[in-house]
Amino acid sequence: MTTGRATVLVETNKLETWNVEIADPEYGGALVRVVLGGVCGSDVHIKTGEAGIMPFPIILGHEGVGRIEKLGGLDTDYAGIPVKVGDLVCWSPIAACHRCHSCTVLEETPCENSQYFEHAEKPNWGSYADYAWLPRGLAFFKLPDGADPLAVAALGCALPTVLRGFERCGPVRMGETVVVQGAGPVGLSAVVLAAQAGAREVIVIDGVDRRLEVAKSLGATATVSLRDSLKERRRQIYELTGPAGPSLVVEAAGFLPAFPEGVDLAGIHSRYVVMGLWGAIGTQPISPRDLVTKNLTIVGASFPKPKHYHGAMQLAAQLQDKVPLASLISHRFAIEDAHLALDAVHKGEVIKAVIDPEL
Ligand SMILES: [Zn+2]
Ligand SMILES: [Zn+2]
Repeated sequence: MTTGRATVLVETNKLETWNVEIADPEYGGALVRVVLGGVCGSDVHIKTGEAGIMPFPIILGHEGVGRIEKLGGLDTDYAGIPVKVGDLVCWSPIAACHRCHSCTVLEETPCENSQYFEHAEKPNWGSYADYAWLPRGLAFFKLPDGADPLAVAALGCALPTVLRGFERCGPVRMGETVVVQGAGPVGLSAVVLAAQAGAREVIVIDGVDRRLEVAKSLGATATVSLRDSLKERRRQIYELTGPAGPSLVVEAAGFLPAFPEGVDLAGIHSRYVVMGLWGAIGTQPISPRDLVTKNLTIVGASFPKPKHYHGAMQLAAQLQDKVPLASLISHRFAIEDAHLALDAVHKGEVIKAVIDPEL
């Protein structure tokens, strides 16, 4: 019997390394040896309980690149590309139910009964582990030949999330003036997409100089420090965009006061897409009249679909030699050191951390 190590969140704030049994794949599934397991900001919220109570014990990790170890009667991935043992793949980690109003009637996400985690003692697709067991229906995709696993892992679930957000609010158009609130992985993904789409200005707001430097390396045209006052930030941004203001504002800050600032910054006839506030529970005052007088569109988005994971993977592979994606991975941790990885992400010390089972 095969066993492998896994980081198990036994209960809120209690992590252990377990040796778990590794099952053969079911029909339609695959067993993957994890190459890189991405550490996501939401993993911190899951550990601390801010994201709600989970079906403990769970194996952490919803971002991953791995090598196929065994296939469950398949010879293609979920996009019809031939696959074999040894191929590099990534996967969409959210199991939709296909039996709810969103899934079936609207063909939309989020799904009311989506499953992010499986009990740690059952076959499991958590990626802080030696192996990920991908159940039937959990879409996985072969990396294009020559794709760098680091580049694909670098933006993790953030790039699919932003692709989902731009699907909801409409794509970035050539010549637009874009403001991105926050330079974590979601904000950096928005920078990459806006820059590649031909935005005239991509202005990023963050409080950490190093993250702003990284945003510039990915295509940001200007940066604004959170250390400046609200009024001063607005002045700098409007100086760059002109009096019409930003045509698209992206909330990727995960910090509640970003929301009224985003509404205030948004220009006339603009769009505001809110993606970062998933873990920020609370309310904020805004002036509803701004929505009317600016003709403002506000869109929330979460829960990327498999096609967004596929698109993100293809885009990362396509850009890996043009944009320094792989170098975003600033920290690697062993499976046993997952608690250190989560602490480092929580403290904002990292651009992107990964779990590397070979360490
Ligand atoms: Zn994530
Ligand atoms: Zn559903």
